[in-house]
Amino acid sequence: MTLKRKSVYHTQQRNEKVSDELVRKGGPPRYPLVEDRVQAEIMACIRAEAEPISRARLTEALNSSRGKISSEVARLIEKGLLAENGLAASEGGRRSSLLVIPASAGLIAAVDIGATSIDVALTTLGSELIAHRGEPADVREGPLSVLDRVKTLLSELIDEQAASPRDMLAIGVGVPGPVEQASGLLTVPPIMPGWDRFPIRGAFAGEYAAPVFVDNDVNVMALGEHWGGVAKGVADVIFVKIGTGIGSGIIVGGRLHRGGQGCAGDFGHICVDPDGPLCSCGNTGCLEAMAAAPAIVLQAERCAREGKSAPLMALLQEKGELTMKEVGEAARRGDYCALTTIRRSGRLIGQTLASAVNVLNPSMIVIGGGVSRVGNALLAEVRSAVYQRSLPLATRNLPIVMSELDDVAGVVGASVMAAGEVLSLQAGSKHNPSVGRLERGA
Ligand SMILES: [Zn+2]
Repeated sequence: MTLKRKSVYHTQQRNEKVSDELVRKGGPPRYPLVEDRVQAEIMACIRAEAEPISRARLTEALNSSRGKISSEVARLIEKGLLAENGLAASEGGRRSSLLVIPASAGLIAAVDIGATSIDVALTTLGSELIAHRGEPADVREGPLSVLDRVKTLLSELIDEQAASPRDMLAIGVGVPGPVEQASGLLTVPPIMPGWDRFPIRGAFAGEYAAPVFVDNDVNVMALGEHWGGVAKGVADVIFVKIGTGIGSGIIVGGRLHRGGQGCAGDFGHICVDPDGPLCSCGNTGCLEAMAAAPAIVLQAERCAREGKSAPLMALLQEKGELTMKEVGEAARRGDYCALTTIRRSGRLIGQTLASAVNVLNPSMIVIGGGVSRVGNALLAEVRSAVYQRSLPLATRNLPIVMSELDDVAGVVGASVMAAGEVLSLQAGSKHNPSVGRLERGA
């Protein structure tokens, strides 16, 4: 199943236009998209299944009556959120038709803003990727310039698909900082100067009537990996992103654990050395300050200056500084400086992760983010530290694996979050003041 989903993500960069499919039956979307709890449960159940599903299977999964499910399904078909597609295998009687979320239901815009990159995608309401584009960016340039670029990329994707902003049912945005769940606002984000409490939802309001949902980028990546990647079907997962920052997304009992305010999993600011270097958060010796990409690069530069790596020294003399990519390439070639610094980083991350394993007892740990792409040296060190320092029972069956969705984990997760929210009964005008205007026919 996982492989099947993966092939969707990596091959479904469909060039044909989706416009023909986007002739919505019910006119512009009205929020909330579902009318009651049973409709919300039907949509959640169908989204969770990778295959088309019969009414009989829905009735069984939701422990409801056949009549109730049939009438609610009929309403959802009328609204264009569901469609019939093929027949279920015969169980003796008349074969029942299978239900799917059709591409014509509408689109989800998925945005993943990282510290040094932005990724924008269009997906179906079933979170299948239709088109995706990513490019380098610097989040420190501030919200106006970064979000302008996001909106330009989104418009380009919409134009390419001959779609319209009115086809958008929801917008999901992942950002590399702590997000207050109730308001969707970034709150004192350490690596995002100028973004503190910036109204990201409002930035889309001029062009899009769809509600906007914002969460931390690592939470969103964890959702993506849990929904369609290596952690699909695993109930308890820690997803760790190692890049310019370090963070984690925690899935407990199949659901993302956001904590009281929304900042659970902020793993990078656990102190590993009180006398360590100053961190972007203002404290000293945080894991992030000692083991994320900038710390790795700094260590590798120091090591090269000490004459321990001729190739890195040559690069340093030529350009004045190194990049994470160069250190990663050197490590893959077996360079001593690069390998030593990456292993040190892996060990620190693994040691900290071991504490999280003891507290949360996950069934899988997934490692993603730019630094994770340096390869086995990092992963091996993380594994060895976790297995060494966690309780034996907690690590008896604990795979520690690389992200499968990799650079699309964020956009897939942003889509999963936004689609899940917009199909819940709570979705509506509180997320975007313009929604009400659209409903009145503006
Ligand atoms: Zn910190």
